Amino acid sequence: MANKKLKVLILGGGFGGIKTALELAGRPEFHVTLLSDQSDFRYYPTLYHAATGGKMTASSIPLDEIFKDKGITILKATAKRLDRQAKAVKTATGQEVPYDKLVISLGVVTNYFGIKGLKEFSFGIKSQAESQKLRDHIHKLLIDEGKPDLNYVVIGGGPTGVELAGALPAYIRHVMKMHKLKPKKLNIELVEAAPRLMPRMGKDYSRALARRLRKLGIKLYLNQAVQAETADTLTVNGKPLQSHTVIWTAGVTNHPFFDDNKFEFGEHGKVQVDKYLQAEDDIFVIGDNASTEYSGMAQTALHDGKSVAQNLIRQAGGHRLKKYQPKKPIYVTPAGPRWAAMQWGPVHLYGWLGWVARSAGDFAGYHDYEPWRLAGKHWAAEYLNENNCPICAGSKA
Ligand SMILES: Cc1cc2nc3c(=O)[nH]c(=O)nc-3n(C[C@H](O)[C@H](O)[C@H](O)COP(=O)(O)OP(=O)(O)OC[C@H]3O[C@@H](n4cnc5c(N)ncnc54)[C@H](O)[C@@H]3O)c2cc1C
Repeated sequence: MANKKLKVLILGGGFGGIKTALELAGRPEFHVTLLSDQSDFRYYPTLYHAATGGKMTASSIPLDEIFKDKGITILKATAKRLDRQAKAVKTATGQEVPYDKLVISLGVVTNYFGIKGLKEFSFGIKSQAESQKLRDHIHKLLIDEGKPDLNYVVIGGGPTGVELAGALPAYIRHVMKMHKLKPKKLNIELVEAAPRLMPRMGKDYSRALARRLRKLGIKLYLNQAVQAETADTLTVNGKPLQSHTVIWTAGVTNHPFFDDNKFEFGEHGKVQVDKYLQAEDDIFVIGDNASTEYSGMAQTALHDGKSVAQNLIRQAGGHRLKKYQPKKPIYVTPAGPRWAAMQWGPVHLYGWLGWVARSAGDFAGYHDYEPWRLAGKHWAAEYLNENNCPICAGSKA
């Protein structure tokens, strides 16, 4: 059976899963199947831009385009059950997909922490559909009976909340112009439970972002916990904030697949992995799902995917596995037009230079998955806007 190909099954067509598949593509010793519930790859770092009028194509790349001529089997399905004995994954439709080696990179899901009303009334930006819903709502509310509700609340002072809050003022003003409305004062608030923005970062980083957001006119409510939401009110530390536009960016939790299939958990509900990113024999868990030092970043998922693929190649060649080395990510957080905070080890940049670094980082990010030409196309789309509001699409700002 010397020519028998090793069946590698990858769950999840996001940062980690795609990188693993690309690293194994073209290797004669493997048959690789990428199983994902979406037919596109979501480039999350630009979703805040899509939610504020940017082109959706910058944050959605078809898997078929990434894997054209790569010899990878793409299966659109939802992974549900793991049959360890049979070495197979069962999908929501009952299909059984066998594996010799399983790599799991299913990402995280939104968590509302049981706060009353949030799931029902808040908006999110974790998918193109959610971003589109928010965009439509912003347009609709501005023209509502000539009495627009100009109160917007972003919950969460992490990167997504900061990026979104920073982009909102310019976007809402642009929409007002498109609808030929007189400029009015906006009230944009950001609520964060910790005493400072981006609490996982250094104090200088938090301070620079807070200064920048305040300069953009955003009110910061730090150290304040959200308690409940209704159709028009958010309760924060016992006080009501009136708004019909509350955007929840503050909570995620590990994918339910792991709890459903009885994995062992480490810190923050992430899956316990060994020094090779293995949760169990022949089952690797990577990216946001794994309990590793820098879990929760796209750069980590990419690095994990590459490390696991290299180990699979080593193992197939009869060599010993190499220990996983965590890689410190570069942190870049855009906040409003042409401004970003960047921290790369001891190097801190705030302002336009940070923005340039972020733009370069995005280009490199796309190129991780695509040849230069296609990466350039998606990167360029980051600088384009689109308007599919039926009322103002024809007008010129
Ligand atoms: C709005 C936003 C902005 C972000 N900005 C940045 C940033 O600027 N820089 C940075 O480094 N990180 C950023 N991140 C974090 C980064 O996107 C994640 O760390 C990264 O996506 C993790 O990769 P992953 O492969 O673990 O999961 P994902 O990329 O989430 O991939 C998971 C995949 O699994 C699929 N899937 C889910 N359930 C199933 C199922 N049951 N069956 C089959 N398939 C399934 C999903 O559709 C998806 O394709 C951001 C995240 C968000 C939400």
